[in-house]
Amino acid sequence: MTLEGYRGKLLEILSNAKCSIGDDIVIVTESRSIEGVLMPRYQYADAEHLVLKLKNGYNIGISADRIKKIKLIGKGKEPSFATPPKPEQTPGLPKVLILGTGGTIASRIDYRTGGVRAVISSEELYHLVPELSSIAEITTDILFNIYSENMTSEHWSKIATRVAEAIRAGYDGVVITHGTDTLHYTSAALTFALESPPLPVVLVGAQRSSDRPSSDSASNLIGAVKFAAESRAKGVFVVMHDGPSDDELAVHSGVRVRKLHTSRRDAFKSVNSEPVARVKNDKIEILEESIREEKESGSFRLFEKFDDRAALLKVYPGFHHSIIKDLVDNGIRGFILEGTGLGHAPKSSYGAITYAMSKGAFVGMTSQCINGSVRMTVYDTGRDLLSIGVKPLGDMLSEVALAKLMWALGNFDTSEVGDIMTKNLRGEMQERRLL
Ligand code: ASP
Repeated sequence: MTLEGYRGKLLEILSNAKCSIGDDIVIVTESRSIEGVLMPRYQYADAEHLVLKLKNGYNIGISADRIKKIKLIGKGKEPSFATPPKPEQTPGLPKVLILGTGGTIASRIDYRTGGVRAVISSEELYHLVPELSSIAEITTDILFNIYSENMTSEHWSKIATRVAEAIRAGYDGVVITHGTDTLHYTSAALTFALESPPLPVVLVGAQRSSDRPSSDSASNLIGAVKFAAESRAKGVFVVMHDGPSDDELAVHSGVRVRKLHTSRRDAFKSVNSEPVARVKNDKIEILEESIREEKESGSFRLFEKFDDRAALLKVYPGFHHSIIKDLVDNGIRGFILEGTGLGHAPKSSYGAITYAMSKGAFVGMTSQCINGSVRMTVYDTGRDLLSIGVKPLGDMLSEVALAKLMWALGNFDTSEVGDIMTKNLRGEMQERRLL
């Protein structure tokens, strides 16, 4: 075992004391001796603190300056993640593919050493959440294991391509486990990449990891798999806690949802609309019947390309026009301006916006109010921006607009992007709210 995460002076004193992560050690400071298990540190954690797990289960940090001596009293075991036997599978259940992408959900923790590892096989998943084996016949595929802040449009593309393979292979549903921070960007991106999917594609995350008593990992996963296996819905959805209760989950449309809280389990809310279904005490309640209908275009098509030369800019007092100009000069092909109020940007930015358009860039307007719709005909600022050529994007959420723009730039000719962006393609915008 190594001294994962330790650097500088601490690495030196721990190496001299011949300690490894997981060992029982005693730290002697000027005032006392503290016994515990040496824990790993995160890659970017500060270099000045050693982390010790005490006998009572709490972790404490001890400043390197206070350490007089380290005594090794027992060598620790490697983190162990033995795979338990697969629980009995009920025959004839719907087939669900679970695609792992990372985040808090579906990770395993070795409580002694703090080692964290992604759940990699269906056997492990069944063991951790045995309820799943009576809901669906599950196959798992770990596509990547990243925090969602590290997602890029290339990851979206890979996920969409894998979902398309699952559709061709005849699965009944797909569940994608994902970090929560950018889950709603991915749900939007997939909604555009997958036209008329014949099955539910369900994104799910967890706000609290499985080592915490209030974890939502298992309940969210069970609800997501249930919805994927049994709902007969078609489209891309997000399943997360609905409120404070442990057994009520909301199912949101992939293009109408946003993370609205940093830590609550019910952080995800449908915006400018209602959840399309609920999973309550193990029962699916469909609230929006249209999610089961065949989409107009009929057969499934994959549009997996994205062009990330698009920017989402928040307008604020003092917003400097050079931001837009510099980005255009650096090759950015489209902008979502998250304007103030009904969709406004300062007069000082008009020149840069006109410049962007003269270079062929798309400029669309959403509102930073989050709720409501842009309405650019009310004030002269809005009318001026409309006359310059800024496109109002109705009640489309800014994150959805960004994903849609990257998708439009990736799959269609520049001349078509304006029309695509202002048309409601997948329920991302309510048309009556367009102006
Ligand atoms: N930062 C993490 C992520 O989005 C949080 C989570 O896993 O929910 O991946």
